[in-house]
This record gives sequence, C-alpha cells and structure tokens, in this order.
Amino acid sequence: MDSLTLDKAVFELSESISPKIECTDCGNCCKSLMVNIDEDEANNLSAHLGQSRDEFDAKYLDKGESGRMVVNAIPCHFLVGNSCSVYEHRFAGCKEFPAFHVPDFNKRLFTTYMHYDRCPIIFNVLETLKIDSGFKKA
Ligand code: SF4
Ligand code: SF4
Repeated sequence: MDSLTLDKAVFELSESISPKIECTDCGNCCKSLMVNIDEDEANNLSAHLGQSRDEFDAKYLDKGESGRMVVNAIPCHFLVGNSCSVYEHRFAGCKEFPAFHVPDFNKRLFTTYMHYDRCPIIFNVLETLKIDSGFKKA
C-alpha cells in the first residue's frame, strides 16, 4: 500500500471508529502523553485561567534549554475525571491526537504503536487496517 493510500485508509477508519468511542470514558491520552506547548498556547490558557505567565509557567510547565515547553505533570494538570477542564483552550497536540488525519502515517507508525494499548481508537483503527489490508500472521 503506498503512502497516500495508507493515509486515506487510516483517516477513513478513524472517521468511522472515533464516533463509536467515548473519550470521556477513557482519558488515557491525557494520563500518559507528554504535551508540548508553544508561547501562544501558554498565553491563551494563562489568560483563560486569569494567571500571569510567570505564575502559569511556574505551576504548569517545564522548559528545556532549546525553549521547548512541556506540561510538567503526567497525568495532565487539567484532567478532571476523564475530561479536560480547559477543553476550549486545550493545546494543539491534544486536539491532534491520535492524528490519523495528519499526512505520512507511515512515518508515525512507531509513535502510534506506542499508544496502541492505551487508546481504543488507535487499537481499533490498526486492528481493522490489518484485516482490511489482508495482513496475515506467519
Ligand atoms: S490540556 Fe486537556 S486535553 Fe490536553 S492533555 Fe491536558 S487534560 Fe488532556
Ligand atoms: S486515548 Fe484515545 S480514546 Fe482515550 S481519550 Fe485519548 S483519544 Fe480518546
């Protein structure tokens, strides 16, 4: 299967499987992902929370020397039960996951498999893909 066909296949499977999975029964991505965020996202969420950036950064972020910023807790600070308490202001990485709409799925196969046993959407997309593509065990 070529790359474009694979991208289309996983996107279509995700579109049909995702509506059958209730993320608020799961929340596993928010319990296991290291979330990268950028300046605009930090400004947006700190303003929403009514906190200065200094206060927000000290409470919620780790910063690397390269300027990389990540949420400093796993599970995420903003997870309440299985739901995001800042849903409208959540980060791009949160919105993107599990990213079956993003091109070049074949290059993200390893990272996708890292979440195979945590994310029911990923599990079902990959298991269905194996059946649809005629994959057979040796
Ligand atoms: S910001 Fe919300 S959606 Fe993103 S990881 Fe935290 S709880 Fe989950
Ligand atoms: S791990 Fe997958 S199924 Fe669970 S909340 Fe995240 S996206 Fe939804």
